[in-house]
Amino acid sequence: MTTPNHYPKLEIDLQKLISNAACVTAYAAERGIEITGVIKGCNSIVEAGKAMLKGGCTGLATSRMDQMRRIREAVPGAQTWLLRLPMLSEIEDVVLLSDISLNSEDVTIGKIEETCGRLGKQHGVILMADLGDLREGFRDFEAMMALAEEIEFRMPHVTLEGIGTNLGCYGSISPTTENLTELVELARAIEARLGRKLRYVSGGATTTLPLLLKGGVPEGINHLRVGEGILNGRDLMVFWNTPFPGVVADAFTLKAQVVEVKEKPSYPIGEIFVDAFGEVPVYHDEGLRIRAIAAVGKQDIGSHEKLLVRNEGLRLIGSSSDHLILDVTDLPPEARPMVGDVLEFDLYYPAMLYSTGSVSVEKVLLNGETVL
Ligand SMILES: *Cc1c(COP(=O)(O)O)cnc(C)c1O
Repeated sequence: MTTPNHYPKLEIDLQKLISNAACVTAYAAERGIEITGVIKGCNSIVEAGKAMLKGGCTGLATSRMDQMRRIREAVPGAQTWLLRLPMLSEIEDVVLLSDISLNSEDVTIGKIEETCGRLGKQHGVILMADLGDLREGFRDFEAMMALAEEIEFRMPHVTLEGIGTNLGCYGSISPTTENLTELVELARAIEARLGRKLRYVSGGATTTLPLLLKGGVPEGINHLRVGEGILNGRDLMVFWNTPFPGVVADAFTLKAQVVEVKEKPSYPIGEIFVDAFGEVPVYHDEGLRIRAIAAVGKQDIGSHEKLLVRNEGLRLIGSSSDHLILDVTDLPPEARPMVGDVLEFDLYYPAMLYSTGSVSVEKVLLNGETVL
């Protein structure tokens, strides 16, 4: 499975993923909250999904149907959730390959009903409420309640499994006790109209975990959809200053090989125009510096700013499609990387997203015996 001499390489420690999932699911379960494991951030590598299930997630979710098909084939028994609102052109696959989808449009749900009828299937939907982040979901709660009734009483093949919200993705709005209480109240209002309980009141994603840790998630929220907080665990630590107890941020390791080490000026020579991506980076003149180039690039990681160097004394200073440039001057000469050396990096979410999707990056599963 692993080619010793192939770089760039992405190592994924499955035991760390199981343990991360277990930390989050156990903490949430004590507060009456179930966790669906979101694996779109790692291109839905199915072994990562299996690790999440092993760690206590009650289902698996992704945003794309090609990934959903892979999940369904590899773990046929798992409950599957489609997170991105379905396209009208993919409803048949949605119905055949996923159990639950997040929705906000009556025309889409109508097509789900019709397709289920034709195929003899049943499909669950979560109606999304937009509580201010301004991505998907109803702002008009009256219209949302009317659609809930329409589903309940006039669509025999669609089950309203609950309602949900997404925060912190487009509008950068934080989940709070106030906005999540709004969601719970909306759920109670819909339940009153339907005369039954909803199975899920889904209060968000990784960005809801800091509020959960502070004890601020209101009673009535019984479900979260968590990806980054289990796979990567870095956002909570760095952006929210709330590391999740027990969750480690180094389940993924990127390895890249050095292809050049040379002393060069730090300020480009000649007329500065735009870089390969049409941007004008800011360069600081620090005189002559020793720089290394590693063979991995924006195509695989998004940007050098989405990586962290494991080796101390190295500084990431730039990247292009296929090159990663590091300043190595501050290392003692004998410790400086040489051509052929392999450097290790930690990843932020975007680098995990790009590297798992890059065909040039070899993915290697570590400690996988127990799940494979
Ligand atoms: C991506 C996504 C999630 C999971 O996000 P993380 O930040 O990885 O936890 C949850 N819900 C929806 C609707 C999403 O699109």
